[in-house]
Amino acid sequence: MIDLHMHTKYSDGSNTVEEIFKIAKSVGLDTIAITDHDILSAMEESHKYEKLFGIKNIPAVEISTRYKDNRELHILAYLIDYKNKDFVEMLNWIRKTRKERNINLIKLLNSLGYEFTLEELIEVAEKESNIGRPHFARLLIEKGYFKSFDQVFTKLLAEGKPGYIERESISPYKAIEMIHKAGGVAVLAHPLSYRFENKSEVKSLILDLVDHGIDGLEAEYVTYKRSDIDWIKRIAKSLDLIITGGSDFHGKYKPHISLGKGLGSLYVPDKFIDSLYERQILNNKKD
Ligand code: AMP
Ligand code: ZN
Ligand code: FE
Ligand code: FE
Repeated sequence: MIDLHMHTKYSDGSNTVEEIFKIAKSVGLDTIAITDHDILSAMEESHKYEKLFGIKNIPAVEISTRYKDNRELHILAYLIDYKNKDFVEMLNWIRKTRKERNINLIKLLNSLGYEFTLEELIEVAEKESNIGRPHFARLLIEKGYFKSFDQVFTKLLAEGKPGYIERESISPYKAIEMIHKAGGVAVLAHPLSYRFENKSEVKSLILDLVDHGIDGLEAEYVTYKRSDIDWIKRIAKSLDLIITGGSDFHGKYKPHISLGKGLGSLYVPDKFIDSLYERQILNNKKD
């Protein structure tokens, strides 16, 4: 059993790398891909746990990008050389823009009457770097301003709401290019989660990304119903793209989602791993 999408404390998950391996073991996973947002810290650390738990972690990261229509798109990078200098620098820059967004977001939320400090945010996040909106959400809930994550996002933090600040980032095209230069495989994460009006808009996005070298689509995604998964699979097949899948596990930040099993019916076939490696070989032949 495998799971190719999950987060640790290094981004907006609640678990340490060791805890992820423990949970993975307990649910019977033999291969995982830790896909933190814009950070590779779990890669080096995972080596000792791979041996200890007998579970393989495929090098990966989920890159925050900004599309030409201003939408935030997540590009999953698999099998990258996580020591590639340019790739590492690109992620460093993205994290810097997140940090700047966070400073401005604190000011904005304070001005809207939500009283809290950077120090309190760091305490809730249990770290100083790569703090995300889920950490803001948790602090606002702890302070009694909101009852649930859903509520904080739908009333305040989501795109288009009063407490939203856009974060500068690279284009998905650049991300794909850098993933390839780092020897990896580029996959569009959760293709149906970008609030497009309809599937034909999603299809146009996918066609555009294919023109820019995207290798695959995440199909077996935790919250997608069978008909949507089948739609993504059909598109992938017709465009010669690979498919991947995962739970997008965030620990206690999304407590209803389990590693490996998602909401209960998630199943990510082992053969997805072969496709990743085959695609990597194919890409290397091209250049
Ligand atoms: P950030 O990268 O700091 O802008 O935060 C993005 C993260 O916030 C996403 O990865 C989700 O985990 C979470 N998030 C974004 N929008 C929503 C939403 N509408 N409801 C719940 N969580 C969300
Ligand atoms: Zn996340
Ligand atoms: Fe994502
Ligand atoms: Fe994710």
